[in-house]
Amino acid sequence: MADAAETCIKVVCRFRPLNSSEVARGDKYIPKFQGDDCVLMSGKPYHFDRVFQSNTTQEQFYNAVAQKIVKDVLDGYNGTIFAYGQTSSGKTHTMEGRLHDRDMMGVTPRIVQDIFNYIYSMDENLEFHIKVSYFEVYLDKIRDLLDVTKTNLSVHEDKNRVPYVKGCTERFVCSPDEVMDAIDGGKNNRIVAVTNMNEHSSRSHSIFLINIKQENSQTEQKLTGKLYLVDLAGSEKVGKTGAEGTVLDEAKMINKSLSALGNVISALAEGSGYVPYRDSKMTRILQDSLGGNCRTTMVICCSPSAFNDAETRSTLMFGQRAK
Ligand code: ADP
Ligand code: MG
Repeated sequence: MADAAETCIKVVCRFRPLNSSEVARGDKYIPKFQGDDCVLMSGKPYHFDRVFQSNTTQEQFYNAVAQKIVKDVLDGYNGTIFAYGQTSSGKTHTMEGRLHDRDMMGVTPRIVQDIFNYIYSMDENLEFHIKVSYFEVYLDKIRDLLDVTKTNLSVHEDKNRVPYVKGCTERFVCSPDEVMDAIDGGKNNRIVAVTNMNEHSSRSHSIFLINIKQENSQTEQKLTGKLYLVDLAGSEKVGKTGAEGTVLDEAKMINKSLSALGNVISALAEGSGYVPYRDSKMTRILQDSLGGNCRTTMVICCSPSAFNDAETRSTLMFGQRAK
């Protein structure tokens, strides 16, 4: 029988196709796939709960990886889905995709659709209160993407000792369109604040939170669940030469927060009694939605190009630590 830790943390791996510049350069496509849970890199096998090949559609990925978590969150569980990988490996494509395109939309918009479809299908005695928050963690500072005036929020604990981001905007939403508006607005705020959006998004973690409260007006029964959707900063090593000032600070901070995350996930996977949540802001924020009774899925995003071989292996190794 699978133990509890095994059932609550899943690690899946997704390879994107070669992109046009890799094709133009004549890069070799290097992964070889074995069954649906193993990828070989130069003959070395890496095993995951599932491995998705480059031709996997957004819909196929969603159905296989995220759909079940939505059901669990509506049943009152907490959950987190992360995308981990080097810049340009497909993290944002996986989590967000093209927001307003039915075929190309990623995990987050599909989750939103499914939540509201569920709500619309329920009987009238059930009342739903859905609220969303959207923020980013950059240089260990938490910035509210729904309110640009909040640039340095802190993590506090509520009376049950559950950490939360104090003062973070919580927007009540009543339809998928309202959630999409929140995401679009948040993304816009992010762009306005920085000079180079691509660079910035690869150096910061973005966190979207959906909070669901259900109340049965007849039985007065209450149920709450929340889901964190996290597009992590790029995991690539910054070259040692030439990096200084902000670039070096960014690299150190990203390194620190990603390794803190890796340590938490592997402690949870091992069923270790001590889980070092307090080692980074991000793991503190996510504390009550990681491990234990929660649904946690890590998506390991990979480039298939020989050019990225070393980074891809280190990405795969990160994912293996959680198994
Ligand atoms: P990241 O967020 O990890 O930096 P992106 O998600 O922005 O990377 O992906 C980089 C580029 O590759 C984007 O143009 C994206 O549309 C494309 N891409 C990523 N994954 C896939 C995929 N599975 N299928 C097709 N295109 C993809
Ligand atoms: Mg991205």
